[in-house]
Amino acid sequence: MSAYDYDLFTIGAGSGGVRASRMSASYGAKVAVAEDTYLGGTCVNVGCVPKKLFVYASHFAEDFKDAAGYGWTVGETSFHWPTLLANKNKEIERLNGIYERLLDNAGVELFNGRASVVDAHTLSVNGKTVTAEKILVATGGWPVVPDIPGKEHAMTSNEIFYIEKLPKRAIVVGGGYIAVEFAGILEGLGVEVTQLYRGSNFLRGFDDDVRTFLATEMRKKGVNLVFNANIARIEKQGDILKAELENGEEIETDLILYATGRAPNSRGIGLEEAGVEMAENGAIKVDDAFKTSVDSIYAIGDVIDRVALTPVAIAEGMVIAGNLFRGENLTMDYADIPTAVFSQPNIGTVGLTEAQARETYGAVDIYASSFTPMKHTLSGRDEKTFMKLIVDQASDRVVGFHMVGPDAGETTQGLGIALKCGATKAQFDATIGIHPTAAEEFVTMREKVPEEPVKQAAE
Ligand code: FAD
Ligand code: NDP
Repeated sequence: MSAYDYDLFTIGAGSGGVRASRMSASYGAKVAVAEDTYLGGTCVNVGCVPKKLFVYASHFAEDFKDAAGYGWTVGETSFHWPTLLANKNKEIERLNGIYERLLDNAGVELFNGRASVVDAHTLSVNGKTVTAEKILVATGGWPVVPDIPGKEHAMTSNEIFYIEKLPKRAIVVGGGYIAVEFAGILEGLGVEVTQLYRGSNFLRGFDDDVRTFLATEMRKKGVNLVFNANIARIEKQGDILKAELENGEEIETDLILYATGRAPNSRGIGLEEAGVEMAENGAIKVDDAFKTSVDSIYAIGDVIDRVALTPVAIAEGMVIAGNLFRGENLTMDYADIPTAVFSQPNIGTVGLTEAQARETYGAVDIYASSFTPMKHTLSGRDEKTFMKLIVDQASDRVVGFHMVGPDAGETTQGLGIALKCGATKAQFDATIGIHPTAAEEFVTMREKVPEEPVKQAAE
């Protein structure tokens, strides 16, 4: 009989917390989880899921137009935001219910409330004190808005999923995943979008050709993408927002979305007091086994600020459960994590950027291609697809894969397996293509492209 109420108490029923809790319970541990806002966490409620539904919604505008080249007369179309919102909310509620049942079926006890740590083995939740042999902090992250005058008039991704009325005009601030995804969503739904990014090219960390290529495609679709620009202050006059830029220029708009990053959600829940060490931005410091500076307290997911993606939080949860309750010695492999940005068109990427590959391997071969996807030969849409492979000359291994084009995320998942297996360019070449697809281009690229023409292909 354990001296504690639970073998594991998890704070936060998001992507990482739910997986770690369920798996731990399935390995025989007595587990409880506390959730104070929404089951399923960010991804299910204000992240991946509603975002992808909005991306689908916004793409219909183009689909209706593209149909004409195929002989269809679509007729007059209109978009009703409240319908999308209601259907999205219904789907999220369905998923919340699924998460509740998953926990229940696994035998995990759910506390609907905010948990805080009292000491290394004690927590307080809903005014009740509980003890646990191990505590897992999986509290995720929270949007950060820079401290500028009038920031209270801006919103973040948390709120935009629930706005009652779609604005006529919007400014999106930031150049990361959320900013480009929402610039595309809003533009597709008919909003006049200005996206402001403080640097000279957005999506820092992605391959340079991909960044330039996407910028071109987004501008073609009508997003007013402005680089080297940032808001200095916001004023509200009636229903109108006035954004004064750092260069003195003023833009009038109806909604300002800040997508300027997320901070670990680690403060105010007793962690510092219990001796859990954190980085300056609140990221909980953990070792390879996700143990914090306090032996009995562990942390995973966005709150440790390593790779803020749902499948990563889930994989970290699997490591925790296996190690703590199945006697395994698992570690997390962060190499070659495939990722997609659900911009329009999508970005899919796995492995190194060209710059990283040159730094790591020195001599690399580049294969790149930019073409009109077959669908648009008849639709007439001026949208191009871009593909790029980066190959280490010495080993012939493909070390980077990048795509901008429809369903790039779908293509990238399979390519992620190939890269994880250490596939060589010769093995790519030996793979038979699937015709006619865009993805077959990846097994038919034979001409090494010198650096300069690659840049041109992307511009
Ligand atoms: P979360 O899912 O954030 O869960 C943390 C949970 O803890 C929350 O439910 C919170 O309410 C709860 N909590 C916090 N403190 C307490 C407390 N004291 N007591 C009780 N409960 C507490 N990732 C992808 O892989 N693909 C995508 O397409 C994608 N799209 C995204 C779009 C947006 C707009 C955003 C914001 C994120 C997106 N992400 C995406 C990232 C993904 O959502 C996160 O990486 C993932 O949710 C992290 O999981 P987590 O378990 O660490 O935290
Ligand atoms: P990101 O960190 O991806 O991007 C933040 C952006 O805001 C960067 O362009 C950054 O610029 C800019 N920025 C930061 N501070 C300021 C400031 N003070 N003023 C102006 N601009 C600023 O964060 P997001 O919020 O977009 O997303 C958070 C994370 O969630 C992502 O990194 C990703 O891990 C995850 N996510 C994943 C998705 C997916 O898988 N499809 C979708 C959405 C989110 P700079 O580059 O110059 O620092």
